[in-house]
Amino acid sequence: MELQLFDTYTRTVRPFEPLHPPEVGLYTCGPTVYDYAHIGNLRTYIFEDILKRVLEYNGYKVQHVMNITDVGHLTSDADTGEDKMEKGSRRTGKTAWDIAAEYTRAFQSDLKHLNIEDPSIWCRATDHIEEQIEAIETIAANGYTYRTSDGIYFDTSKQPDYGYIGRLDIEGQKAGARVDVGEKRNPTDFALWKFSTPDVKRQMEWDSPWGVGFPGWHIECTAMAAKYLGEYFDIHCGGEDHITVHHPNEIAQSEACFNTRLANFWMHGYFLQLDDSKMSKSSGEFLRIQTLIDKGYDPLAYRFFCLGAHYRAKLTFSWDSLDAAVTALQRLRQASYEWGEPGDTVDPEYQARFLEHINNDLNMPRVLALVWEMVKSDLPPQVKKATLLDFDRVMGLQLATWQPAVEIIPDEILAMVEQRQMARAEKRWKDADALRDAVTGAGYEIEDTAQGPRVRVKASKA
Ligand SMILES: [Zn+2]
Repeated sequence: MELQLFDTYTRTVRPFEPLHPPEVGLYTCGPTVYDYAHIGNLRTYIFEDILKRVLEYNGYKVQHVMNITDVGHLTSDADTGEDKMEKGSRRTGKTAWDIAAEYTRAFQSDLKHLNIEDPSIWCRATDHIEEQIEAIETIAANGYTYRTSDGIYFDTSKQPDYGYIGRLDIEGQKAGARVDVGEKRNPTDFALWKFSTPDVKRQMEWDSPWGVGFPGWHIECTAMAAKYLGEYFDIHCGGEDHITVHHPNEIAQSEACFNTRLANFWMHGYFLQLDDSKMSKSSGEFLRIQTLIDKGYDPLAYRFFCLGAHYRAKLTFSWDSLDAAVTALQRLRQASYEWGEPGDTVDPEYQARFLEHINNDLNMPRVLALVWEMVKSDLPPQVKKATLLDFDRVMGLQLATWQPAVEIIPDEILAMVEQRQMARAEKRWKDADALRDAVTGAGYEIEDTAQGPRVRVKASKA
C-alpha cells in the first residue's frame, strides 16, 4: 500500500509522493527555548519522529530540519506583550543567550530520552537574522508590508486566501473584532520586524534596513525552511496550535516571497490532555520528561503511551494510564527478550499488515494491536523476534538492546564479601563468619563456588 498522509491544508488523507524522490524534505517547527518542554508538547515531536521513521521505512531519504526559536516569540499571538526570551531572562536572572543555550540542551536531552532521532539540521533563529531580513525585504518589495510605530507588518488583506489552512473566518473576525488592533490595518496582520524601544533595554537586537530591532516569530521558519529545503518542499509539521496563527502566517509570507505555499503537505500533531480529575494530587504540576524520570518512570513508557493513540486523536494523560503503558511495555520487552536472537527473515504476512497500518496515515494503535496478535501467535520465536525488531525501526522502543535489570549489589556489601575472603585466606574464621552474618543481615546471601564467592539478593527479599 502506498503511503497516505493527512494534509491539514486540503483536509484530506491523500497519497504522498516526494517532489524529488528518493529525497524527502521535512521541516518541523521547534521549541521556543525560554522554559522546559511539557510532555504535551513532546507528544508532537514523537508524532513527527514516527512520521520520519515511516518515510525512512518506505525507503525515502529524509532531510529533516528543526528550528530553535530563541528570539521574537512574544507572549501574545497578537504581536503585543514581551519577548518570551527576555521574560525568561528576568525570571531567572540569566542572560537571554544563556537561557536559550540551557533550554536548548534540556530539549535535546528530552528528545534523547524519548529515542527521537535528531534532525539532519538544527537551526537557530538568531543565527539566521540576515536570511530573515532578506525575506522581509522581498516581501516588502512585493508590496505586502506597512510600517507602524512599533514595527514592519504583513498586510494579510492583500491575500484573498489568507488563513485558508486554518479555515479562518476573516470577515467574521473583522466584524467581531473587539480586540484593540492598535495601528494594525487588520486583526490578522502580524509583525515581520519589531523595533527596539528606548524604554526597554533588549539583550537581543540587530540592525536592519528599518531600524534596530528583532524579527517577528513567524518569519524565521519561512526563511530557514527555504534556505535548507528550498522554496517548495515535501512536508511541514507542527502542533495543532499552529493551524490558526503560525502556519497561516508562514504560508502568507511564503506566497508573498516565493509564490508557493512552502510545503506540499502540512501536518499537525494533537496535544495531550491532562485528566485533572485523576491527577488532583499533582494538579498544577508542570509535567516534564524529567518529572516522569524523577518518579521512577522509564521515558520510553511515555513514548509507548503516545503510540496508543492516533496522532490526530485526543489522548488523555493520567498516572494510571501511564502505569498501564509501563506494564504493557514491560510485557513486550520480556517477551521479545525471551525469544532470543532474531532469525534472518521476518514474517511476510505480518510485515505486509504492518506496512498497511503505518502507510494508512501512521495508524500506530493498529500497529500495537498487530504486535500483540503476533506475540500470541504460534510463529517460531526467532521469526517473531526478527519481525518485531523490523517494526521497531518505526516504533522506536529500543527492543533490540533491552535486557532485564541486573541486580545491583551495593558497594558496601561487596566490600564485606571481599573482607570475608581475606579473613578466610588468613584463617580468621570468626571474622569470616561475622562478615557473612552481616551480609545476610543486610538481605544478601553468599554462595561459595569454585570460582570464588557469588553474592546475590536473598530470595525472600528479591
Ligand atoms: Zn514554525
